[in-house]
Amino acid sequence: MKVSVLASGSSGNCFYVENEESAVLIDAGISAKQIVERLGMIKKNPEKIKGIFITHEHSDHIKGVDVFARNFNIPVFATKKTAKKCFLCSNQELVHLIKNNEVVDLGEMKVESFSKSHTAIDPVSYNVFNGKKVSIITDLGYSCRNVLENVSDSDFLCLESNHDIRMLDDGPYPFYLKKWIKSDKGHLSNMQAGLCVLEHASSKLKNVVLSHISKTNNTPLLALTTFSGLVKERSDLTPRICVSNREIPTSLLKV
Ligand SMILES: [Zn+2]
Ligand SMILES: [Zn+2]
Repeated sequence: MKVSVLASGSSGNCFYVENEESAVLIDAGISAKQIVERLGMIKKNPEKIKGIFITHEHSDHIKGVDVFARNFNIPVFATKKTAKKCFLCSNQELVHLIKNNEVVDLGEMKVESFSKSHTAIDPVSYNVFNGKKVSIITDLGYSCRNVLENVSDSDFLCLESNHDIRMLDDGPYPFYLKKWIKSDKGHLSNMQAGLCVLEHASSKLKNVVLSHISKTNNTPLLALTTFSGLVKERSDLTPRICVSNREIPTSLLKV
């Protein structure tokens, strides 16, 4: 399998995972036009995509779903509560309801959902399997048991590293927003992301893409140094670590 983070951050999230035959998107939170452009940047075309899997109803995760799914006739998968809570697609025939922990079979590629803690009606994250396991985990207030279990045997992790606690505390956000971001239903800090991997990942973890980086309360360098600094305490754990970008896709990373 190969993975590219086409976009990640509060301005939009879209993760591309492929094997030889097919591909999936996890979230489509940038415009359909941008998705096509960014797929072009990694030399891929939308026809290969067999499903769009939605994590939750926040606009930075669903903005481009309707147009992109209709334009290329791609099924959209979401839990019943999430699908009810927001507008996903005006062609209802494309919307497929899934349950937590359900595995969707797309030939050799399998996609599994699991619930996580975030302020949304029914937030889930996804694993994509094809021999190896890719886990895409953003928008979570803390690493609940589900998250830890999935991190523990993952080969490739896109993990939220949203904010630096000090930058958030000293930054311009109003008190209520700071309080929510730090809560169990908000977003994961650099430190929380690093500790989650340090304490729970196995040595099979070969790639980490730090994702959903805050523009105001974090920097890519700070996310990277905090994470690397923690993870290097374990000599058996040597993943390649990179940081996602809001504007341009990561290269196509081999799982
Ligand atoms: Zn988000
Ligand atoms: Zn969210």
